[in-house]
Amino acid sequence: MHEIGVLYEAVKAVENVAVQNNISKVKQITLEVGELTGYLPVFFEKYFSVVTDGKEMFKDCELEIIIENGEGLCTDCHALYNVMKHEGKCPKCESRNKTILSGQQFRVKDISY
Ligand SMILES: [Zn+2]
Repeated sequence: MHEIGVLYEAVKAVENVAVQNNISKVKQITLEVGELTGYLPVFFEKYFSVVTDGKEMFKDCELEIIIENGEGLCTDCHALYNVMKHEGKCPKCESRNKTILSGQQFRVKDISY
């Protein structure tokens, strides 16, 4: 489970920002998770209470997860397609040569206080 590690880092980063800005309560954290990262959002939801356990700042904090689509651009025929949906193969010319345009990110997109 890599999810708990990256989630822990994300929560720690949010905590640092909050402390620096004298914020004592975080209401909501929005994470953006690319579908090509291999991270399963369900684990973030599951581990969020574990990672924030005992931290007053995150009491009743909501976790929102936005999935970023994995888009690829075929380098042979220049078709744009969803890499996950088509299992990495261009639906137009069946080539596997591609440039990944999105879907590899994991980041804290937004924080509400
Ligand atoms: Zn193609």
